[in-house]
Amino acid sequence: MHSAAWLSAFNLLAVAGLCAVSAFMLWQMRLDAARRAEITSRSLVQVLGRDIARNIELYDLSLRAVVDGMKRSDVAQLNPELRHMILFDRAATALGFGTILVLDQAGNAITTSQSVYPPAFNSADREYFQYFATHDDDELRVSPPSISRLSGQWVIMLSRRVSNPDGSFAGVVAGAIFLDYFRGLFAAAGADHAGTVTLYGPGGTVAMREPFDPHLLGTSVARTPSFQEILKVRSGSFIGPAMVGDGDRHFVFTHVGNYPLQLSAAVPPSDVYADWYRQTLSLGLVVLILCATTVVLTWLFGRELSHRLRAEQVTAALNTELETLATTDALTGLSNRRRFDEALAREWRRSVRTRQPLSLILLDADHFKGFNDRYGHQSGDEALKLIARSIEAATDPSHDIACRIGGEEFAVILPDTEAVSAEVVADRIREAVAGWKVPHAANPQGIITVSGGLAQTPLIPAVDPAALIAAADAALYEAKQLGRNRIEVAVQAATRLRHASMHGHS
Ligand code: GH3
Ligand code: MG
Ligand code: MG
Repeated sequence: MHSAAWLSAFNLLAVAGLCAVSAFMLWQMRLDAARRAEITSRSLVQVLGRDIARNIELYDLSLRAVVDGMKRSDVAQLNPELRHMILFDRAATALGFGTILVLDQAGNAITTSQSVYPPAFNSADREYFQYFATHDDDELRVSPPSISRLSGQWVIMLSRRVSNPDGSFAGVVAGAIFLDYFRGLFAAAGADHAGTVTLYGPGGTVAMREPFDPHLLGTSVARTPSFQEILKVRSGSFIGPAMVGDGDRHFVFTHVGNYPLQLSAAVPPSDVYADWYRQTLSLGLVVLILCATTVVLTWLFGRELSHRLRAEQVTAALNTELETLATTDALTGLSNRRRFDEALAREWRRSVRTRQPLSLILLDADHFKGFNDRYGHQSGDEALKLIARSIEAATDPSHDIACRIGGEEFAVILPDTEAVSAEVVADRIREAVAGWKVPHAANPQGIITVSGGLAQTPLIPAVDPAALIAAADAALYEAKQLGRNRIEVAVQAATRLRHASMHGHS
């Protein structure tokens, strides 16, 4: 039972350990999932940001070349064809970039990269034109997304100021980047796998977005808390509310070059942990099944064990009872012959080993055949019970072993007892039986009496238990011979003397 408890404890410990290790592993996997998602988003916005910045830089080179040309008085005096050739000599013509316009100080188109003689139109109302008309600014201006007047498409205008030698406003050189161009860049970078990727134009207007939604182009998200967060530092990540839609997003963002443009990749936490949830579910299920199986098996094992234990206890109790039944005399409740033989053999061995005396009393009812004949067998049995009570009363059950070894024959084994003390016990029994004064007409005494023979080893040099019995039996025979209702103690000489006549006695 002890080892079963240990086994159960060990099993439960193993289950707890398995759960702890699994929980730790899942927690690590969760951290890993967040880290991986962040790395993916970060590299995406960085690659896209660098790409966009480099393209704007290239386009700006073309604008700058035109501005440089416009500043030269000799170029201004050339005929329009020649001037067009020189101005747009270095102009980059790439997919995604619109026509470069040259506007005079009134906003009228002088020339464009497309045609030497452009159709007459005025852009004085445009944001960038009004800015340069009032600001002496040599830097590139990036305008918020707008719909191009030339192409009707969504564009971001890039523009530079043309100044007279004295610094006064002479006009603007401007070019458009089609927002569709960014869409191509986004697709090439794999933005469709990174949640929502957004490019913000100046003032927090949506310049491109993947997944693409044409209605969102040009709308401002400047006031959303998450965009405000993006404006705080050049690049980073944070968890904040979605700018479009509900719920939180994990934002990874960067500013594009030194331009007023920002890029962000926003992923809902549920997407970040989607794989992790799946892994947790399968791993958790396996661990749960393992743990449950172990616990159930441990429980079943414990139950089986306790069943067996109980069965063993029942069997042991039954055996004890059977043992008692098998060694008890049914009529008197004293030990029976079988028990007597065992006990005497055991006490004999002990006596030899410890060199302590061992006494044996044999008792026999006097003229009992006559009692039966006169009063009936039933009364004989009752008388036997009285004799048994007398023996019990005269002996110590914790020390002496009282037995009924035959019909009306009794024995008392007295370990560690000298013959002198045993004789006292035997005489006490004899007196007790006579004390009942049960009428017995066939006995010259008139009442029931017993005779006893006593032998003690090593006083009698008996070689085995049987020899001790023989010695006590001889003493009993002598007691009968000497008139009954008395106790005789075996002595070595007497034993030897009796041997010759023993065969006559049964
Ligand atoms: P003695 O004084 O020489 O012993 O005479 P005895 O008549 O007792 O002789 P013995 O011991 O040979 O006789 C035994 C008698 O005891 C025989 C039988 O009638 C009686 N007896 C033996 N066992 C039982 C028993 O279980 N119940 C009854 N009622 N009587 C028994
Ligand atoms: Mg007898
Ligand atoms: Mg007798």
